[in-house]
Amino acid sequence: MTNLILFGPPGSGKGTQAVTLAEKYGIIHISTGDLFRYEMSNNTPLGLEAKSYMQKGELVPDEVTIGMLGNKVEANPDANGFIFDGFPRTVAQAQALDRLLSDKGQEVAALIALEVDDDEIVARILNRGKTSGRNDDNDELIIRNRIDVYNRETAPVFDYYAQTGKTKRIDGIGSVDEIFQRLCAEIDAL
Ligand code: ADP
Repeated sequence: MTNLILFGPPGSGKGTQAVTLAEKYGIIHISTGDLFRYEMSNNTPLGLEAKSYMQKGELVPDEVTIGMLGNKVEANPDANGFIFDGFPRTVAQAQALDRLLSDKGQEVAALIALEVDDDEIVARILNRGKTSGRNDDNDELIIRNRIDVYNRETAPVFDYYAQTGKTKRIDGIGSVDEIFQRLCAEIDAL
């Protein structure tokens, strides 16, 4: 069983790469952002709560996010592994993930970080906003806030996994295919 965390700032290409990696390695892709957007589109209580944070570029509270993620993992008992995209975004979420996996006798195999600089991120997200229909992709102030939240709350997750030697860094600039090849090289070497 291979459990991977695809890590990096908003707009670094995690979602794009996670879909094809999940296919190639036969593991399940879990994107907490996609799960929240699904709940929002169905106007569920969870979706309405998430929306109030997402539209400001803030994180949804940990207990809400961790509960939702746990349900998704439990719903796939026969999975060959998972690729987590957009989770964990705080150290508390990372600790919860480690507990959840260790209860199953599993662990995180690696955290792979896509490195992309801030200006490139803003440009990519604004471009995505033309077609994504996401409010949080259309406003540079919200995008900059998401980057600040990432630096403040999410970047420490890298250090948390670095302590156990599980972190890898990948240059996130290049074509989608080039970056995919870089990711596969890291995963194949695990
Ligand atoms: P991006 O990577 O482009 O920011 P996501 O779809 O991963 O897009 O996340 C969109 C928003 O969903 C975040 O800004 C945040 O409000 C919320 N969200 C997603 N994942 C989490 C998480 N693990 N913890 C808290 N909030 C989250």
